[in-house]
Amino acid sequence: MKHKFHTLLFSVVALVAGIPGVQASDIIIHAGRMLDVKTGKIMTEISIVIEDDHIRAVEPGYITKYGAETIIDLKDYTVLPGLMDMHTHLSTVISANFFMEKFVMDSADYAFRSTVYARDTLLAGFTTVRDLGDQDHNLTIAMREAIAKGYIDGPRIYTSGKGLATTGGLADSGNGLRREWMDNPAFVEGVINGPISARKAVRQRYKEGADVIKLNVTGGVINKGRFSPGSQWMQDELDAAVETARDYDMVVAAHAHTAEGILRSVRAGVDSIEHGTFMNEESIILMKKHGTAYVPTMTAMKWLADKAKDDDSMPAGIRARAESMGPQIDITVSRAYKKGLWIVFGSDAGVFPHGLNAREFEYMVAAGIPPVTAIKSATIESARLLRIDSHLGSIETGKLADLVAVQGDPLDDITLLQDVKFVMKNGIVYKQE
Ligand SMILES: [Zn+2]
Repeated sequence: MKHKFHTLLFSVVALVAGIPGVQASDIIIHAGRMLDVKTGKIMTEISIVIEDDHIRAVEPGYITKYGAETIIDLKDYTVLPGLMDMHTHLSTVISANFFMEKFVMDSADYAFRSTVYARDTLLAGFTTVRDLGDQDHNLTIAMREAIAKGYIDGPRIYTSGKGLATTGGLADSGNGLRREWMDNPAFVEGVINGPISARKAVRQRYKEGADVIKLNVTGGVINKGRFSPGSQWMQDELDAAVETARDYDMVVAAHAHTAEGILRSVRAGVDSIEHGTFMNEESIILMKKHGTAYVPTMTAMKWLADKAKDDDSMPAGIRARAESMGPQIDITVSRAYKKGLWIVFGSDAGVFPHGLNAREFEYMVAAGIPPVTAIKSATIESARLLRIDSHLGSIETGKLADLVAVQGDPLDDITLLQDVKFVMKNGIVYKQE
């Protein structure tokens, strides 16, 4: 009797205090189908037990034994891990006025506008993003905190803050302006020259709270300056930046379209090559040797090539470049996949409207990547790139409860991922249609 009383008391206390692992769970999801991204297999009739922000158990059958307060019926759906986009710009969107914005928008204007982009991204099923370059200084660092504190809805953010470039490179905000506006930006603004300032720039990002480092190693499509055919960083500058980032355990992403830019970045030891448009045989061999990830951003390249035909959608200077570079990406991605490169999902959202990130799946599959490999690239492989696969990237006991669901089988029809019906992040439901 005494024992019973003790147990009862303990249960009540546990319920009130929410002690994990004792009695009730918060939510049980009954999933008609669930994709195990580790095996690539669809499992049927699965219960996913959610407690607080994490997955407490994944069990066969539609169970109720944990006494959850809420049962979510997804018997007609396929449940997948929350999607992860390794290349976004949540503070950016390209328009015909893009280069003029900085003269008329204040930081607060950028910040409020970006809250819409963050919500659109989350509701599209992307529960985690790696953001690679702020339009307004450190906006996404502040936004990461605002989302984590629950002030606004958005994905979990791993951000580079301001990306790094050399003078005249993609992240030099003085490019193309009249002389008094060109200024002489330095490491604080993300412009480096020489190994010492490369180190300073990485440490500045660390100091300001960035999670990852973004190096703009070559010219870009969205660049007011010229597009140089080689690399805009010298080897010693890249080596210094990557070595410094290693000291802080920061993942390094290199924007590189040209073969020379790719080669130097890979030699320096970056974790991923972004875009990689003019990747050649030598770059593929070196990337394989170093285990460098390739993040293709096909959606951005295709969007730009398509919109380049339209006078009003982008500044005139980038149209010609967009038209010529866009079609190359299909060839590059299909070759990279055939050669066995490690391909990780990244769309470059912000170059195109936020929330359309899942188009990347369709383009990847069209380039010859199997649907299950494309989905892995946006879940477990993204988590591996960010070194967070111990708690994200798959639906497993103990991992954070980030889940999405689509109607039908995404392995049959990859475009279903563009119409996500259910979104959960950290155990909280943000969308249920
Ligand atoms: Zn980008």
